Amino acid sequence: MTKLQALFGGTFDPIHYGHLKPVEILANQIGLSRIIIMPNNVPPHRPQPEATSDQRKHMVELAIADKPLFVLDERELRRDMPSYTAQTLQEWRHEEGPETPLAFIIGQDSLLTFPTWHQYETILDNAHLIVTRRPGYPLTMQQPEHQQWLDDRLTLRSEDLHEQPAGKIFLAETPWFDISATIIRERLQNGESCEEMMPAPVLAYIMQQGLYR
Ligand code: ATP
Repeated sequence: MTKLQALFGGTFDPIHYGHLKPVEILANQIGLSRIIIMPNNVPPHRPQPEATSDQRKHMVELAIADKPLFVLDERELRRDMPSYTAQTLQEWRHEEGPETPLAFIIGQDSLLTFPTWHQYETILDNAHLIVTRRPGYPLTMQQPEHQQWLDDRLTLRSEDLHEQPAGKIFLAETPWFDISATIIRERLQNGESCEEMMPAPVLAYIMQQGLYR
């Protein structure tokens, strides 16, 4: 049995099928032993999520309740300070030891901004990067040095992710899901249906809490 685990961070305001379905499919395609969903603590200078940290956490719990592969990680939510992915992955590596293969999952849109993340190069020291497809975004980097950075680490072999502890970038062949939390919030504000876009218990909770009106 595979031991490759993957961490999937995001604001999850709210969590939706565009988050859940690609990573579930990915887990089957490449063999993941665990998907750790980690809602982030949004820095004060960024636009704040509409839902509170507790509400975002609760929506994740509802979304993964019937999915044994998924677990929730509250470490970033529990911090008073906004946290950087680089720092979180360093901690995670420390906990898991040097040999365990670890991966961090991002959508295609996040790959484009990845080189602006704090200490982005060190993230690959501690984990692989797995990129899921998302409609509307190119798979090439804008700046040549960032494209070079990507090309140097790219692998087409998912086996590399199991055989090495960190350092590779894998572009997963997951289907497109044209869903975003922004679209969901807008639709809910307009009183439009979002049933197809997220698990029913999450939508029921949103309605019960009067979120995104
Ligand atoms: P918002 O619309 O509020 O910006 P979002 O729907 O993009 O939110 P986030 O919580 O910001 O969701 O994203 C967390 C991670 O999930 C990111 O790596 C993002 O690229 C990925 N992601 C979100 N939606 C999709 C999707 N439809 N397909 C693939 N990846 C996605």
